[in-house]
Amino acid sequence: MIDLHNHSYFSPDSEAPLEGIVAKALREGLSIIGISDHDDLDTSFSFSYRLKDLPAYMESLSRLKNDSPLKVLTGLEVGIQSAVNTPPEGDFDYFIYSVHGVPGLTDINASDIWTLYLEEAIEAVREFEVPGFFGHIDFLRRYISGHRPLDNSMLLSELLKKLILYNIGIEINTSGWRAPYNEPSPQPWIIEKYLELGGRYVTIGSDSHRVEDVGSYVQRAIDLLKRLGAKEIFYCENKNYRSISISEREFGNSVSSSSSR
Ligand SMILES: [Zn+2]
Ligand SMILES: [Zn+2]
Repeated sequence: MIDLHNHSYFSPDSEAPLEGIVAKALREGLSIIGISDHDDLDTSFSFSYRLKDLPAYMESLSRLKNDSPLKVLTGLEVGIQSAVNTPPEGDFDYFIYSVHGVPGLTDINASDIWTLYLEEAIEAVREFEVPGFFGHIDFLRRYISGHRPLDNSMLLSELLKKLILYNIGIEINTSGWRAPYNEPSPQPWIIEKYLELGGRYVTIGSDSHRVEDVGSYVQRAIDLLKRLGAKEIFYCENKNYRSISISEREFGNSVSSSSSR
């Protein structure tokens, strides 16, 4: 089992020690853990979270990879926006590409919030060198009063098609199952739509900011993917997509196939 979205003390909004994250991953029975600390590229938003120290981050993760009894992947949650979408260079395995800001937005409860967010996301996405997964597509639900979900729209289809065109995956972000609305991010119908449109690269991320959330609801996400007819889940290693079969009755750790993008 895998969890590709975890924040450590290299993110300004987490204090989780890397060793603690790995220890919890082992207790959860995970075979692959990805560290993906925040690096919001556009710092004009008040809530932008820059990575604390890139060289120290890379060095710590390289040490963790060598010392850990499970596979550790070097990721980064790159906050992309239409204004800035050039991720840092380095020895990364993958990125989580997230759009955290909506330019010019003054009211999170504006009736056209989803239109504005999707327009920004479509503008921010382009062909990237490093493979990865678009983060928590409908995460603004966390902040909208009543947690109003994203509507099915032409803009959503346009975003999903653009992700597919550029070989960008999506994640089942399980943090929504820890939120009051108790649904993954994005909602299952959006994951289904991505698959129907021809998308393949779906991964799972807890979006943990605390050690206790590492690996949370990963099995539930796998069950959801199986229900949607998916046969595999993906992660990236050395900037290549790799798959793990989830079709066997006994879901194991074996890597059944790998494919580069
Ligand atoms: Zn995020
Ligand atoms: Zn995150």
